[in-house]
Amino acid sequence: MRLRKEAQRQESPGESIFSLGAAEHDMDTRYRVIILGTGPAGLTAAIYAARANLSPLVIDGNEPGGQLTLTTEVENFPGFPDAIMGPDLMDKMRVQAEKFGASFQSGQITAVDLSQRPFRLTIDDGQTQYWTNSLIISTGASAKMLGVAGEADMVGHGVSTCATCDGFFYREKPVITVGGGDSAMEEAIFLTRFASEVTIVHRRDQLRASKVMQDRARKNAKIRWVMNVTPTAVLSDHRQVTGLEVEDNQTHRKRRLLAEGIFVAIGHQPNTGFLNGQLDIDELGYIRTAGVTSQTNVPGVFACGDVIDRRYRQAVTAAGSGCKAAMDCEKFLEALE
Ligand code: NAP
Repeated sequence: MRLRKEAQRQESPGESIFSLGAAEHDMDTRYRVIILGTGPAGLTAAIYAARANLSPLVIDGNEPGGQLTLTTEVENFPGFPDAIMGPDLMDKMRVQAEKFGASFQSGQITAVDLSQRPFRLTIDDGQTQYWTNSLIISTGASAKMLGVAGEADMVGHGVSTCATCDGFFYREKPVITVGGGDSAMEEAIFLTRFASEVTIVHRRDQLRASKVMQDRARKNAKIRWVMNVTPTAVLSDHRQVTGLEVEDNQTHRKRRLLAEGIFVAIGHQPNTGFLNGQLDIDELGYIRTAGVTSQTNVPGVFACGDVIDRRYRQAVTAAGSGCKAAMDCEKFLEALE
């Protein structure tokens, strides 16, 4: 019922662009722009698109608010000198988007058909379909987690996937970085600015990181190494992390490494599975965009935020990229109409 109402509300802005062939489709709901994902990129795109009178529909996905909802205080988002809690920041962005006319729908997109416009999106119940003449993909990337006992409960209470976001809270405290790639080296080096000691825990005796990053980490006197071990449990007193249990891969003996913070840096997985190969993506799964724009290889489909960003992955860069996507999308629709 609610969807029908949304469809009616969209009819006048959407009519001109859908007048060609629209009647051929059995459309549940049709939009000028649909935005997938509600992290800083998606919500900024929603604010811009709504202010441009495009009445966007924003679909939440499986992690409403994105990765910032997993963190506590955000101290580096401009405009909040006294910091803001991650979930509060996302709530404010959402309210701002709603204020300008964005509507929101919970659910996850399970399938898309980008072979022709309007594009067709299917939501997780398999029955509800949306039709849209443009699409902004801001589905983000999910940090890979260890999946060991105690980890999930302590996310935001000592387990973090972002040293830039949370490192500051570990002044003069011992921390652990898990991983052997460039991210782990980078995070560990960054954390030495604050922590009393940083232990890099890696599952092999060889690092995956580039030589330059390895050298930089090895030269840092605050970093110590525990190699060839498999993390088996995050230890805590249920309020705060107290350490990491690891198993030696050769002797199979377990031991406890003491730490107040555990930074998991074992890679990210861009959330692009639902695309089913319909967009150009790079070897790590990130959506490719043209030059400095947010345009993908399918006209009318734009991408922004962590789903295109293997390098910066900050709330503020994601927000900027969402702004670009909405502006690119607006230009596209203008030309189409
Ligand atoms: P990555 O290169 O895939 O490295 C992931 C690391 O985590 C590997 O050492 C891997 O171990 C380990 N790992 C994976 N799953 C694990 C598990 N379940 N338990 C324990 N350890 C696990 O990921 P990344 O470091 O995030 O880098 C991604 C890309 O971004 C790379 O191309 C990298 O060069 C680039 N990057 C560059 C910079 C820079 O140049 N400054 C900074 C960050 C990232 P194994 O080695 O055993 O597989």
